[in-house]
Amino acid sequence: MSKLAALPSVEKLASSLAPEVSLPRPLVNLFVRREIDRFRQLLLADENHTREEIEKATQQGLIKFANSRLQSVINATGVLIHTNLGRSPLGPRAATALEKIATGYSNLEFDLSSGTRGKRAEYLETALACLLETEAATAVNNCAAALVLTLRTLVEEGKNEVIVSRSELVEIGGGFRIPEILETSGAKLVEVGATNKTHLHDYEKAITPQTALILKVHRSNFYIDGFIGEPEIPEIAKLAHDHNLPLVEDLGSGAIINTDQLAPIEHEPTPQECLRRGIDLVIFSGDKLLGGPQSGIIGGRTDMIAKIKNEPFFRAVRCDKLILTTLQESIDQYLETKANPTESDVPVLTFLSKSIDELKARAKIITKELPTESTEITIESTLARPGGGTMPRSEFPSVAIKLVPNNQSVTKLAKKLRLSESALVGYTTDDALFIDLRTIFPETDHKVTQALKTALS
Ligand SMILES: *Cc1c(COP(=O)(O)O)cnc(C)c1O
Repeated sequence: MSKLAALPSVEKLASSLAPEVSLPRPLVNLFVRREIDRFRQLLLADENHTREEIEKATQQGLIKFANSRLQSVINATGVLIHTNLGRSPLGPRAATALEKIATGYSNLEFDLSSGTRGKRAEYLETALACLLETEAATAVNNCAAALVLTLRTLVEEGKNEVIVSRSELVEIGGGFRIPEILETSGAKLVEVGATNKTHLHDYEKAITPQTALILKVHRSNFYIDGFIGEPEIPEIAKLAHDHNLPLVEDLGSGAIINTDQLAPIEHEPTPQECLRRGIDLVIFSGDKLLGGPQSGIIGGRTDMIAKIKNEPFFRAVRCDKLILTTLQESIDQYLETKANPTESDVPVLTFLSKSIDELKARAKIITKELPTESTEITIESTLARPGGGTMPRSEFPSVAIKLVPNNQSVTKLAKKLRLSESALVGYTTDDALFIDLRTIFPETDHKVTQALKTALS
């Protein structure tokens, strides 16, 4: 009993901690009560904790809890599609549409011409097929779901072998590994070739009556170089089709427009060109280079898309109306601005094509207002990256504000900025903090200035 005397009162502790976080008081109370209950169990289990320890742990836990609340951040990392920072931001048009659909009723599954039940995603599927210049398309929760669903649909008992080159057994991150995804889908992985070289006859030799399909996986986040080689897609397609097998490609990022026309970077294969070259079904993410919401898009042959939509698992990974709305807006924008896609308001594409002069001018305006007594501030030429498992070889010129503090550590300064009201996230090297302008929305420049001013003074 005496041990429990170490427990602080919920009311008192909550009162003292509430001003430290921007959470409503009832939420602070509940959090503190849970922590104290947790410590009560520990004390009863004969652990030793002093009151100071309990108060300190609760305080740290509460701050961590408050900071973990989903909030907007300013991405100053120079990584365009940053998975940790929510990948692609949506443009204003998608945001407006989202608000309209989210706050009212919609024709999600209602046919306005007949007044009867309609099909979900009917418009989107046709628009997507137009964009991909293919027969049919659909969308699900994310690219991982799209791949699992496609494999589940195309493999069957006794015919479940999926042939993949050893050079494409990638791990994307966040628990996504091709061999494990295959296993989850009920497919049996048949590896062919070597890490650096796969020949057409490797694929050919692996085909058996149990083969369900051939799978190509885009090496999204790494590249191989040196003594390498692989057959061209039309060659693999011919082999697959001669054996009546589908050829599926997991493309990952799926750039709709030619990335090498936007910036001095490598060419990311587009779904359209893959389909043209003989792929039967192409799969890619909606929130990477497409610049839409989290989703997984599948495009290609009508019969296969129909089969996929009939698979019971499709129901478990279908998109909700908010995703369908924002994806529809993203796709429409590409369709409308096809001749000049940079005019569409897809932020990742706008960021990709910003000029160095423009970034430099903005950096100058920001730095002019900063206190320089205790920090060395310069404007540097840097390299930004596409990120999001796309174009791993491509770094492209960017501009950053470099801060070398002499009255505080770089780590401390970086933390201050992250925890500031604007949640400014840059990147650090040993002795400096960099604020890369390429991934910052110009309309938030004043917030960057404010956050830096406060943190430096
Ligand atoms: C990113 C990626 C995925 C996973 O996409 P999610 O939309 O995050 O599920 C799958 N395959 C490849 C090749 C990728 O690059």
